[in-house]
Order: sequence, then C-alpha cells, then structure tokens
Amino acid sequence: MKIIPKKSLGQNFLIDKNIIKKICNVGNLRINDNVLEIGPGSGNLTEYIIQKKPKKFYVIEKDKKLIDHLIDRFDDKLTVINQDILEYDLKLLNDKDFIIFGNLPYNISSQILINLINTSYSNFSYKKLILMFQKEVADRILAQDNSKNYGRLSIISSWKLDIKKIMDIYPSSFFPKPKVMSSLLLFKPKINYIKFKNPKNLEYITNVFFNQKRKMIKKPLNILFTNSKEVVNELDLDMNLRPQNLKKDTFYKICLIYERLSN
Ligand code: SAM
Repeated sequence: MKIIPKKSLGQNFLIDKNIIKKICNVGNLRINDNVLEIGPGSGNLTEYIIQKKPKKFYVIEKDKKLIDHLIDRFDDKLTVINQDILEYDLKLLNDKDFIIFGNLPYNISSQILINLINTSYSNFSYKKLILMFQKEVADRILAQDNSKNYGRLSIISSWKLDIKKIMDIYPSSFFPKPKVMSSLLLFKPKINYIKFKNPKNLEYITNVFFNQKRKMIKKPLNILFTNSKEVVNELDLDMNLRPQNLKKDTFYKICLIYERLSN
C-alpha cells in the first residue's frame, strides 16, 4: 500500500534507523513491560519496539488508512486501536506501569502531554513517557523561571513529572521533512508531588497568570481571589514581580490556596 502522508494529522514519519534505534533504547524495555505507542503511523518505530518483545503492546492511531497497513505489517504482535488519543479512555487498557512512546502529531502534542499528566486511574499508570515534540515546544516544557520560554507548559509538566532532554533531531530524519527541529524528551512520574482536588485548577490558574504575562502579578491575583492580600501574606509574594519570576512551586502553592478558598 502506498502511504501518502497527511499534513492534517501531523504525519512526519521517522526514516532514520539510527535515530529510531536510539528512541527505542531510551525505553530500556524489559520482557515484561507493557507498551503503548501513540500515533504509530506506518510503523517504523513500532517495528523496533516489537523486537524488544513487550508483554502487551497497544498502538493508538487515528488514521483509518494506516490501520490495515499496521495489521498487515505486524499481525498479532500488537493490538491496534483506531481512535483519537485525545478522546480515548486510557483506563480501558486496564494495566499498569506502561512505557509510552510517541513521535507526536505536533499540532496536538501539548494537549496529549497535559492529558497524560492529568490521567489518574487506579487501573492505569505509566512509568515512562518517551515523547517527541517540535523543539520550540520542548524548550517551553523544559524552561525554568525567569527565562523567556517559561510558562504554563513548564509549570504543568513539572508538577508530576521529572523531565530530561534526550536529544534534538534534525528534519532530515523524517519524511516528509518538517520545517522545524524536533526534540525527544523522557518523562518519569515524581514519587512526591502536591495533590490537587482537580488538576484543571492548575491549568486555570496558570492561564490567568500567563494571559497577562507582562503585567505584574497583582492583576491575576485579584482575578483569582476576592482577598488577594491573604494569599500575598501567606506566600510572602512581591507584588512587583511578573508571572515569569514566580517559581513553579509558588504556582502549586497558589493552586492549593485557590482550592482551599473556593470551598
Ligand atoms: N510514529 C510514526 C513515526 O514516527 O514514523 C508516525 C509519527 S507522526 C509524527 C504522528 C502520527 O500520529 C501519525 O501517524 C498520525 O496519523 C497520528 N495521529 C495524528 N493525530 C492523532 C490523534 N488525534 N490520535 C491518534 N493518532 C494521531
């Protein structure tokens, strides 16, 4: 079957075998590991993962046209799920400690990551995420306070995950070549993280702060709290700072206070 890559589905297939091998090796797969691949495409990374003989191997691919190709190519070595990852209910996989791979469709990569972070089920968990982003998005995920890339994505990603950059990847490793550089990141769940009643509150709070990122924090605090002085005193905040100057931990603490006061 001839595969014509669809731009609308972010189809840039990996073609560089050395890079594919490296990505696969970051997983450090053992025979009993469960694996999920998001957007397997034509199966170029999938092929290498199969060689590591995972216990269970699921792939979730939205493009119906690629489903028959994947079944033909890999037969019963994996379970192919023809779904949109943004709509699929991961608890249906009903197993734990997944290693999740994904050369992600770039237009929805941040949303996929945020959904994975907010996933919290008793019958589904992951122990590693090995995900490819366009470099500019990876830079935002990795950014620290007081830098230009710092923002919502940096704060939300670090809430529950330790993050490490593995490598940058040139456009020539893909077909068709994307216009931008890509970066591969490895995420591992933190053992200790602040528990929120609802993780959407952290999304909301960071949205309020970074919508007005050049303004001083007084304004977003007044939007979020009827009595913002209470929060300022409790966290000893300097009202002359801007959102970029606040540490990630400060946003987590603001979120906790927001949840406490919204009762
Ligand atoms: N993993 C393959 C590779 O590296 O060669 C393909 C990666 S390509 C960048 C992204 C893949 O995600 C495509 O196969 C695309 O069809 C699929 N995809 C796009 N949107 C999706 C969605 N919402 N849910 C699941 N898969 C999606």
